[in-house]
Amino acid sequence: MASPAFSHRACYVNFAEHLQNAWNPNMFFPGAPNVWAREDWRRFLAYIKACGFSCFEYWVAPTLFDRPALDGGGIYADFAATMRMVTEEAHALGLQTKFIAAVNTVGPGWYFACPHDPADKRLIRDLWAHWAGALAGTDIMGIFPGDPGGCNRNGCTHETFVELALELTDVITGANPGARIELGTWGTPFSGWGSDLWPMTGWDGTWKRIFETHDPGPETIHIWNGTPERAALAMEYLVERLSAFPEDMLVAINLGFDPDAGATMGGDARLWAREVAKLRPITTWDYSVAEGELITYPHWRLPRIAARRREERSAAPYAGGMSYTMSPKLNLLTLYAAGQLFLDPDADPDALSRSFCAQVFGEEHAVLGELFEAFEVVRGWGFYPRRAWSKAVLREKYREIIERLEAADTSGCALPLFPDPETYRQDLLWFARQFHALAGPDPDRAAIRGAFWRKALAIYDVIPMSADARADAAADGFASILAEDKGWAAPW
Ligand SMILES: [Zn+2]
Repeated sequence: MASPAFSHRACYVNFAEHLQNAWNPNMFFPGAPNVWAREDWRRFLAYIKACGFSCFEYWVAPTLFDRPALDGGGIYADFAATMRMVTEEAHALGLQTKFIAAVNTVGPGWYFACPHDPADKRLIRDLWAHWAGALAGTDIMGIFPGDPGGCNRNGCTHETFVELALELTDVITGANPGARIELGTWGTPFSGWGSDLWPMTGWDGTWKRIFETHDPGPETIHIWNGTPERAALAMEYLVERLSAFPEDMLVAINLGFDPDAGATMGGDARLWAREVAKLRPITTWDYSVAEGELITYPHWRLPRIAARRREERSAAPYAGGMSYTMSPKLNLLTLYAAGQLFLDPDADPDALSRSFCAQVFGEEHAVLGELFEAFEVVRGWGFYPRRAWSKAVLREKYREIIERLEAADTSGCALPLFPDPETYRQDLLWFARQFHALAGPDPDRAAIRGAFWRKALAIYDVIPMSADARADAAADGFASILAEDKGWAAPW
């Protein structure tokens, strides 16, 4: 096989508190469902390896990034033990691991600690030293600016983030010698730092205050306030300071400074990617290209993933990047295509989709690879569908998916799927039946909402709602799929 187009190919599973669902591992809530056993992790890692990934990426989410972690024990020690085991299994397969943490976001309440407050600063340093040591063996440690996180209190700006990251680089490599650093620039860039964060008089650093202050919700307004002028200042400062960072440090910088790596908000990032690449290796952290947040469903964004990889290859000397999922036990087709497209951006996404379905469901059902595009109709983060559909045509596609999945025999599955092929087939059938009803006349949306909750979100019946209380919105959103008739020309 030809050498891979990108050497760093990370699969990022975001299992944070607000993104819990039946297809995501539960890392923080003992006694609640969805905990993965060692064998589950081994099979998951073997699957992403087979897809073409070279690295498993995870988040030390704010619930863990909290004072009690420093005392040891509890969920903190359990998490560290699990991730050390995962790293061991990954290494045995020839995979790397990477952790990222939002640099100053502390605890389940998402407190934004201020580096200019001496007590907060000490806490930030202590938490990084703790986790870098507790997760020793993790190959790459990613310093992530925010979302949630960042600060504009006590004079904090985008420059504060760069200086904090430099200081933490020493803390991390002191606690975990040999770890490679990845510096994230996510967002506009440096999400949440200085004027990117909404100004609030007398803000106490809490998420609760942000949420209460900015009805209807913080998501669209608390960050992403940076302009191209601010982006230029932030990147100029970073470029000026890069020589102080380790020579092998990766810098994660997207093609554009907005949530979809486009050119709104902070503008086009390509010239900055090229500037940074002169000094340090660069990666992308293009979050929404493969999957959105909120509503879990079987995604199909393959042509966009392919286009992005080709654009990255053309724009700057990228070493690679990551592909995100919050549903690693459901979006097996996306994982396969994303891994393959990191290896070869010239691969044809439609051919990849058919090939995957032929390998899983049998050659006679390869056409499922084109039918699954009909699932990509949920308006949400990163939704840029390739084609427009009428509801009548969609309903017909879902019917055909149902018939084919019912007929398919997965006993000859040629890929090492996790979960097993039969579970995957049943999950896809469940979604196809719901979508078929949602595209039909007068669906019982309340019943569908209840069914989605029980299937996807029941864990929230037994765990606390997250600081960003999304589960209800996700269920509402699922029940609203195809609710509005957009006319012939508008995409669903
Ligand atoms: Zn501050």
